[in-house]
Amino acid sequence: MRREARELARAAGGSQRVVVLTGAGVSSDSGIPTFRDVGGVWSRFRPEDLASPEAFARDPRMVWDWYRARAENVKEAQPNPGHISIAEMESLFPDFYLVTQNVDGLHQRAGSRRVIELHGNLGRARCTTCPSVFPLEGAPLGPDGMPHCPSCGALARPDVVWFGEPLPTDALEQAFELSSRAQLFFSVGTSGLVQPAASLPYIAKSAGAILVEVNPNETPLSRVCDFVFRAGASEAIPAIVEAFHGI
Ligand SMILES: [Zn+2]
Repeated sequence: MRREARELARAAGGSQRVVVLTGAGVSSDSGIPTFRDVGGVWSRFRPEDLASPEAFARDPRMVWDWYRARAENVKEAQPNPGHISIAEMESLFPDFYLVTQNVDGLHQRAGSRRVIELHGNLGRARCTTCPSVFPLEGAPLGPDGMPHCPSCGALARPDVVWFGEPLPTDALEQAFELSSRAQLFFSVGTSGLVQPAASLPYIAKSAGAILVEVNPNETPLSRVCDFVFRAGASEAIPAIVEAFHGI
């Protein structure tokens, strides 16, 4: 691992423009239950039946109960060495961005500041009527027990992307733009199967970036990567950061 990390640091040491794309694998070492495993009474539901506009229209109370249970799970979790080392990478490269598919906010809690969230954030809510976006914690509850908009009083919804919804346009455009001009691109803890995020590493590669994968499992991306670390983020990223510090 250290030798590979040193080779990577030698090959990519002068990189200015760096993008890290992260997925659920980064948070698994923090004990974040996966989307499909929140546990308890929720295990008998399919996420597709809770995380969709149709589910919210049918039974907003149930959807909110599930999201509040997930937000509680996340509050109890702590950033792991993978999150912390990714946050450190901001100071290693002059033009660094993190693009994440995670909604748990652990990157920000670890200190990452230049974060593009493709799927929203469990810690936020937004109004179903006006453009307000606000923290879930402290949001006023209506007589129905659900969070309501502090500006206009209408029912709020989780500020996350649901099944059948497009990704936020600004975040997606920025992610494509940054990937197309990256010199070094890391794909970390993501299966490489879910579009459109899965196309970002290919965009970077075709624009000439050095492509690095960190994943304990082989993915469709593995064969086009210049460097592959077959390990979890909490093991590989600290070794990579250490190697870049050493050059
Ligand atoms: Zn509102």
